[in-house]
Amino acid sequence: MNNRLKIFLLIAWVIIFRLSAFAQQRCGQDYITAQARQYLPDYEERSAAMEAVIASDIQSDRLQTRNTLYIPVVVHVVYYDQTEKISEAQVRSQIEVLNADFAHLIIPGTIPDEFAHAYQDVNIRFCLASKDPEGNPTTGITYNSTNFSNIGIKTDAMGRKRIHHSSLGGADAWPTDKYLNIWVCRLDEYLGYATGPDNILFPDEDGVVINFSNFGNIGLIDPNGRYNMGRTTTHEVGHYFGLLHLWGKNSSGCGDDLVEDTPLQGTPHYGCPDYPQISCMTSNMFMNYMDYVDDACMYFFTKGQGARMRSILENFRKGLLTNKNTHCSDDSITTTPLKDRIRLKNTLVNGEITLIQAEGLNEVLYIELYDEAGRLIKKYTKIAQSEFNLQYNRSLASGMYFLRIRTAGDQTTLKLFIYD
Ligand SMILES: [Zn+2]
Repeated sequence: MNNRLKIFLLIAWVIIFRLSAFAQQRCGQDYITAQARQYLPDYEERSAAMEAVIASDIQSDRLQTRNTLYIPVVVHVVYYDQTEKISEAQVRSQIEVLNADFAHLIIPGTIPDEFAHAYQDVNIRFCLASKDPEGNPTTGITYNSTNFSNIGIKTDAMGRKRIHHSSLGGADAWPTDKYLNIWVCRLDEYLGYATGPDNILFPDEDGVVINFSNFGNIGLIDPNGRYNMGRTTTHEVGHYFGLLHLWGKNSSGCGDDLVEDTPLQGTPHYGCPDYPQISCMTSNMFMNYMDYVDDACMYFFTKGQGARMRSILENFRKGLLTNKNTHCSDDSITTTPLKDRIRLKNTLVNGEITLIQAEGLNEVLYIELYDEAGRLIKKYTKIAQSEFNLQYNRSLASGMYFLRIRTAGDQTTLKLFIYD
């Protein structure tokens, strides 16, 4: 090879490498699976054993219990500089999105008829942990600076991911059998990735990693981006609870995600596809959270996916479920009825509704705004702070409106007057 050719090849290689380095992929599941196949000699056996347990659960119909499962979450923010340091409000916005998405607060009419029967409330709820591993009160959010830029999938010589270890420039997990650990950092290669029960290389590296500008729906997100509604985390938590992509583990041919009520699918969908999309001789469910479409165009998990997640939780992640009172917002355990602890800051509002509440902080509130004729105007999922705001379209006509506020076991209605 002459020198000129060598230089040409080197330049071509650098260009290709740089291009691929900047092509951020939607999800790192293939990377996690490839690592598991490489480093876990019993990966296929683990997967098969997990599938056998799920199959037996699904056959027994045991998963139809509709009790709410509460998941305590700790979010580790690891930032290289201030431009990556997301706020607590941005973290809370992600928890609100998770709760809204798992509850399927879907705008009627957005789902094609053929899939409209397929979804229901998964009945899994998320809270920021209120107790740290030592039992001390906490916000459920940790902040650590790092000297590694784009730390997301960087590893040390032993193959350990830096993001999961304080000693390697990241943040240590809280016990992964008791908390859902989510690390938020710069991750140029993917929007996010997650471990599932069968592909964990090290127990203290179990959890979800999300790129900081795709986490939540306010703050340091790209306001014009396609992945700015917090659904990267919804998708990755799906993987954490054992869900596969709709096309299964291989993105060629007709893949199966091992869920009965999702159609076979050949490859991912991107953007906001027109309905219908056909592959594998069937209409694809591209608006499912486990496809790759834009955040604005994914809406639901199916009943089958819900059952699979509950089976994984009850068999392989059951430590998360035993901590409701110690780790899941015991601030919110109050016997005061909603009507006596939540109020409007001002019943006459213009542009923004402000609510105040003294007890039950961090509780998930489902709120609906109705006009005087009883028409639903807007739905909200909020995590109660001592004072928090609801936005609405300013073009609403002046008049009387109502806010219906619900928690798991209580509800109340507030009256307000909107003027323009
Ligand atoms: Zn994925």
